Amino acid sequence: MKVIGITPEYSAFANSYLLVDEDTLEAVYIDPGCFLENAMNAVKNSGAKVKYILMTHGHFDHILGLSEAKKFLGAEAGIHPADERCLSSRYYSLMETFEVNDLELIPQKADFYLNEGDLIEFGNSSLRVMHTPGHTPGGVCFIGEKDRVIFSGDTLFHSTAGRTDCAGGSYDELCLSLRRLIALEGNYTVYPGHNIPTDLEHERRRNFVIRRMK
Ligand SMILES: [Zn+2]
Ligand SMILES: [Zn+2]
Repeated sequence: MKVIGITPEYSAFANSYLLVDEDTLEAVYIDPGCFLENAMNAVKNSGAKVKYILMTHGHFDHILGLSEAKKFLGAEAGIHPADERCLSSRYYSLMETFEVNDLELIPQKADFYLNEGDLIEFGNSSLRVMHTPGHTPGGVCFIGEKDRVIFSGDTLFHSTAGRTDCAGGSYDELCLSLRRLIALEGNYTVYPGHNIPTDLEHERRRNFVIRRMK
């Protein structure tokens, strides 16, 4: 599996990732927050056919480009059922909280749901869904066991973790989710929703939030 990180045009938006199965060129696209030229070029240049759009959670910075992404990619989109309400709500997507008044939220529904333990298969590659609430009720991480990769959304970041003070957030749930992540065996490369990649071993030892957990 090849991981292509896509830096959004606008810094308020999340990282997107294009994951390409190199045997078949089937792909998945994670978090279409800002689906503009960078994203389209990355997909075109990869030669990949995107099978699924996957969302780590429903905040606007991860989902606002969903309708553009669906049009361009012709792919079905999945989110955890507890975050589907974000796709049609300026409140739950945090557009109200962050006063994102100049952008439109085109109401959407999931084509399929992502639940704990689901296996997402594309070509000879796969990702396992881990439900990791705390930042949002329907937050998930995608775990590539064979490729030793985690796409952690806004649950786990380099040296820190997602905020829990917004709609549906829970610090206690976030701590449980972080515990499940660090309990995975061995090391993984972690690709978060914001900022730079990291790895699980670094986070077990150095992460500010994990070190403070009781
Ligand atoms: Zn985010
Ligand atoms: Zn978020």
